[in-house]
Amino acid sequence: MQRFVISPQQKRAEQIQLTREQQHYLYRVLRLQRGDRAIALDGEGTAWIVQLQEDSAVIIELLNVQTELPISVTLIAALPKGNIFDEVVRSATELGVTTILPTLSDRALLKPSPQKLERWRRIAKEAAEQSERQIVPTLLDPVSFNDALHLTAETRDRYLCVARGNPQHLLASLQNFTSHSLVIAIGPEGGWTSLEVDRAIASGFQTVSLGKRVLRAATAPLAALSLIAAVLESYSNSQEY
Ligand code: SAM
Repeated sequence: MQRFVISPQQKRAEQIQLTREQQHYLYRVLRLQRGDRAIALDGEGTAWIVQLQEDSAVIIELLNVQTELPISVTLIAALPKGNIFDEVVRSATELGVTTILPTLSDRALLKPSPQKLERWRRIAKEAAEQSERQIVPTLLDPVSFNDALHLTAETRDRYLCVARGNPQHLLASLQNFTSHSLVIAIGPEGGWTSLEVDRAIASGFQTVSLGKRVLRAATAPLAALSLIAAVLESYSNSQEY
């Protein structure tokens, strides 16, 4: 069944008012007809089966599905050049990330325009719909690397991916993981500076490896989040988080 995400003010009792954009998407792009059923998501974890009417949808039943990771996962990602971040947002959303925190780092001081941020939020919404997520990840406004360290200070398990040196593999660090949240940080094309690595360690991050090859800034989040999802989902049947 096709999915679409609504905002809270669109729902009144058992009726969802469709925006013009949603009507276009449902009737023109997806070629659904009045009377057809679809799944409406509020982007915060609730989903309903709905029946389409002209410019609204009637709620038929609440859906009880669970497609989210068992804990909250924040991705700190240094903003790369070009359109690579589109790819990062899309694959991180598909892999179950909860929050994306774009970060300006010493080797990537690019400040994205409001239009870029809007575009990334749209990509997150589309990827969440496509991958049948219950929530749309939050894409925060970009912050400095120092602010990213402060903002995530309450999370005990924070990992900084570094392509050089000989840190423990992320997989080994995740063994016996029992927290309710984790943070993973990926650097820019030029890598983290040694000052950034030192600051992160001083603030409680553990440096980790994703293997012996140097991954692109777009591939590294994908590799890290695949590993995290695999570990969390294979544990979640046997352990309480
Ligand atoms: N020349 C850079 C360096 O030496 O660090 C390479 C940076 S890499 C293209 C971009 C980011 O991806 C790195 O800062 C790191 O966060 C992550 N990364 C890439 N390969 C990795 C690996 N094998 N292990 C851990 N992190 C990796």
